[in-house]
Amino acid sequence: MRSIALLLPLIVLTACQSTERSARSTAAGYTALGGWQKRAERFNSLITLPTFETTPAAIRQSVSNAIARADGALDRIGALDPKRVSFQGSVGALDDLSYGAGATANRLALIKETSPDPAVRAAATEGTKVLQEWAVGIEYRPDVYRSIKAYADTRPGLAGEDGKLFEETLRDYRRAGMDLPADRRAEVEQLRKELTRLTTDFQSNVTAAKRPVRFTRAELEGAPEDFLKRPGVRTGDDEYTVMANITWHYTTVMENAKQEATRLKLEIERANLAREENVPLLQKILALRSAIAQKLGYRSWADYQIEPKMAKTAATAREFLEKLKTGLQPKIEIELAECRALKARDTGNPDAKIRSWDWRYYNNQLKKEKYSVDSEQLRAFFPYDKVLEGMFRIYQRIFGLNIEPIDAPYKWVEDLRLYLVSDAATAEPMGLFYLDMFPRDGKYNHFAEFGISEGRRLPGGKYQRPVVALVCNFPSPRPGQPSLLTHRDVETLFHEFGHAMHAILTRANYGRFSGTSVPGDFVEAPSQMLENWVWDKRVLDSFAANYKNPAEKIPKAVLDKLKEAKLATMGLYYRRQLAFALFDLALHAAMPEGQTPDPVKVSNDILADVFLAEPENTAFVAYFGHLVEYDAGYYGYAWADAIAADMATVFEKSPEGFFDTSAGKRLREEIYAVGDSRDVNVSIEKFLGRPRSIKPFLKNLGINTDTASK
Ligand SMILES: [Zn+2]
Repeated sequence: MRSIALLLPLIVLTACQSTERSARSTAAGYTALGGWQKRAERFNSLITLPTFETTPAAIRQSVSNAIARADGALDRIGALDPKRVSFQGSVGALDDLSYGAGATANRLALIKETSPDPAVRAAATEGTKVLQEWAVGIEYRPDVYRSIKAYADTRPGLAGEDGKLFEETLRDYRRAGMDLPADRRAEVEQLRKELTRLTTDFQSNVTAAKRPVRFTRAELEGAPEDFLKRPGVRTGDDEYTVMANITWHYTTVMENAKQEATRLKLEIERANLAREENVPLLQKILALRSAIAQKLGYRSWADYQIEPKMAKTAATAREFLEKLKTGLQPKIEIELAECRALKARDTGNPDAKIRSWDWRYYNNQLKKEKYSVDSEQLRAFFPYDKVLEGMFRIYQRIFGLNIEPIDAPYKWVEDLRLYLVSDAATAEPMGLFYLDMFPRDGKYNHFAEFGISEGRRLPGGKYQRPVVALVCNFPSPRPGQPSLLTHRDVETLFHEFGHAMHAILTRANYGRFSGTSVPGDFVEAPSQMLENWVWDKRVLDSFAANYKNPAEKIPKAVLDKLKEAKLATMGLYYRRQLAFALFDLALHAAMPEGQTPDPVKVSNDILADVFLAEPENTAFVAYFGHLVEYDAGYYGYAWADAIAADMATVFEKSPEGFFDTSAGKRLREEIYAVGDSRDVNVSIEKFLGRPRSIKPFLKNLGINTDTASK
């Protein structure tokens, strides 16, 4: 995953001067930054670390400075003489000021997740909010828009990255409604405000919905003992209370309860959460979204939302989903047949069918009976230090880089590490990354890459090289035992470090296009592709060995079993994802004014067609927060997965496989270096050397694509 600080098309730079020091190695083998900073001059670039705020007062000061600086720059753009407006003074200046404010926002986003001081975290959280609220107003400054428009009216013949920046800046204004007559713009603004209010209400209702469901011990047969013993679950002599709204309560019962009636009862309760409040709200939300899109000149809200994405139109996204739906048909049939056989055996009914309240239970049974793998035993092969070194060796090789530890002038926590990435052939410094890898109180509790300073060409012509951080939560080392990772952890590390590479190897000129600032339906794909590395025996053998006996490698049979288990239920998994994505698009499709579809009927029909029918008289969609959150963007998950599989074939087919340096060079040049400075559709085709295909994705799921659809 990738953490993004602001909704702005921007990002970072900080005024920071780390002290100049000579590049001599320190006692611990760390290199000082100073030598690299001198070296950067030869490449007309800058390599600097930001100054991190360490007190609430410093944070508040930074926020007000950032806003004052950016407002000053906006004032200057707004005051330009329309007859003498230039690219740099208008469109360029806007990117520049966004980058400056984004720098502060990025840094605070990291501080709020990592500072050991709760008061500093709270101040950073508050500062982030202030910056976000301020950022919303940028696009609505009529004086600034007038200057940008005055420049556009000169009809500049721009090409390449400048042309793209120009086009997209105008597009942002059009999307905000700035080119509408004043009265229509006011209408749109009014509708947007109402929409914000209703979507907030929808999400609050999802959060507030509670439904206790009572069962007897016999009804919960199969549920784990430690679940039944939990305080709050056992509520009487033979009474157990399961909260339908607590997801892990729900999944524990759905995966383990033997009685079909129990699962059905809980499914009905879950699929009716927030129904009374949210069904009418959803109808209003969909009508408002449609009305806004139409006033802005789009056929539908889905078209409006998807325009800046890689898919560009709702029709393209839908066509992709339909193709995948058909392609997955043979796989879901096999999986359902396997589950049906288990249910027929359990119930004695040869005609047993798998329902929406059965699949979690039989998936779990299938995993236990047929594909069981003890994933814990693999930890011994993945001591953290060896995994990290091994991963560095692979990335250094495929991308032609050197990675070395640097003496960090400032550390927010003692076990923080800083590294410098340089080009192996030219010794050009490319960027810096921090590793904050182990859990502690008050720290962010997932795994993510945080951009701190994005790369970009500074107005004076020098290139600012990027700085990023990985913030992770691997098991801490203990006395006598190193940190031992699971296979899944290793996959996550390869994924997150892929985002760091994407950011650091950038050559885009504008902050808006730099590094991972690519469309949301593409940003995960390169990192998802890199997850394939940890399923390759040759890759694993290059670093994974039993830490007690380094001669012992991971047995092939164990890896094969692990792959089999991963694949076993992917058909059901993806068809469920596709059902969500398809009803998300259907609900946001074009609708005649004043007519809204029945969201319950539309979503239930699609669930029944693409996945499994929900129980009668339920309203799953009323509790599906993603519909409001990722509106018309749910397709992006499967979309990026399919691209990731497609891109992996370039390595798979290369002579050196996942170690191939020419495939790595292509990834570096065609994907990482260009970022969003050209259309990612073009970049992917250049990397692939052919048009895109969903066949590799289906093939990875074990589907014979010669007989399945294209
Ligand atoms: Zn990611």
